[in-house]
Amino acid sequence: MEFPGFLGNEEVKAALSAAFALRRFPHAIVLQGEAGCGKRTLAKLIAKALVCRNREKAPCGECPSCIRAGAGSHPDIRIEEGSGATRSLSVDAIKAVTADAYRMPEEADFSVYILLMGSRTSEAAQNKLLKVIEEPPEGAVFLLVCDSAEQLLPTIRSRVQSFTLKPPSLEEAAAYGREHAGLTEEQAEKLAALCGGNIGRMLEEAQGGTAAQAAEIAAAMAAGMMDKNGDALLKAALPLQKDRNLCREVLSRLTVIFRDACVLRAGGTSLLSGASKEADLLSGLPRNRLYRLPEIGEEFRQKLERNANMPLLVSCLCSRLRETAGR
Ligand SMILES: [Zn+2]
Repeated sequence: MEFPGFLGNEEVKAALSAAFALRRFPHAIVLQGEAGCGKRTLAKLIAKALVCRNREKAPCGECPSCIRAGAGSHPDIRIEEGSGATRSLSVDAIKAVTADAYRMPEEADFSVYILLMGSRTSEAAQNKLLKVIEEPPEGAVFLLVCDSAEQLLPTIRSRVQSFTLKPPSLEEAAAYGREHAGLTEEQAEKLAALCGGNIGRMLEEAQGGTAAQAAEIAAAMAAGMMDKNGDALLKAALPLQKDRNLCREVLSRLTVIFRDACVLRAGGTSLLSGASKEADLLSGLPRNRLYRLPEIGEEFRQKLERNANMPLLVSCLCSRLRETAGR
C-alpha cells in the first residue's frame, strides 16, 4: 500500500502496508489523533487502496476505481458523518451502514465504510456498530475515525486495532505548506511552528484561522492567572465566551503551557508551547498547585463538549485557575 502525499507516521504506514500486502487487512480499525493530523486523509487513502485495481501499487491514482474514489463517487466507499455540534453518529446512521454492509460490493473486492465518530456517539449507536464488527459481513471494512479511542466503548476498543496519528516534523510540514498550499518559505515555517506541524490546522490558519489568536489569549491567561487581581485573566478570557472553537483551542494551548511549566519545574528544557515566559512564571508555583493545572485544561475541554453555557464555563474556568494558583 502506498501513501502518496501523506507525511510522517512511518510505523502506522508500515503496519497497514504489511497487512494489505498479506491480504489480511483487518475488518475494522480505529484511526485516532488530534484534529487536523490527517485521519480522514489517511482513511480515504486506505479506502482508495482497497478498491484500486492495481494491487501492486495501490492506490495507483490512475485506474477507474482510483479516479472515482478521488472524486468521491466510488459506489463501494461510503463516508458517514454525524450532524450537530458534536458530529456524532446516530443509531439510524449506524443501522443504515450495517444494512448496507450486508450487500456485496458493487465493483471492488471490499465495501469500505469511513465512520467519522464525532465526540459523543451514543452507547446505543456504538452497540449497534459493535454487533457488525463482531460478525463482519464478507468484504466489509470499517475505518473508525475519532480524536481519541477513549471516546469508544471498551468492547469496541478491545476488538479493533487502533492506530495513533501524529503530525509530521516541522520541516516536513513547512515543505508541505510551500508545495501544496502556496505559502512562502517564511509563512510556511511560521505556521508549522505555530501549529506544531499539524497540517490540517496550518491550512485552516492560512485561510484566517484562530491559532495565532488562541496562542496569544492562552499566554495572556497564563500570565493573568498569576496576577495580583483577577481582572487581567477575565479580560484575556472574554473572547472565549462567544466562540466555542476558539475556547477549545485556547484550552488545549493552556494545557500545553501548564505541561511546559511542569517540565521546567522538574528541571527539563524541552518546551512545546512557545510561551516560555509564561511557563517559567507558572513553574514558580508550589508543586502541589502546579501539578493540578494540566488536568483543569482537560476537565474544561470535556465540559465544553457537553454544550455548557459559555459565559458560565469561562467564568468558572477563570476562578478555578486563580484558585488553583493560590490567588
Ligand atoms: Zn488504482
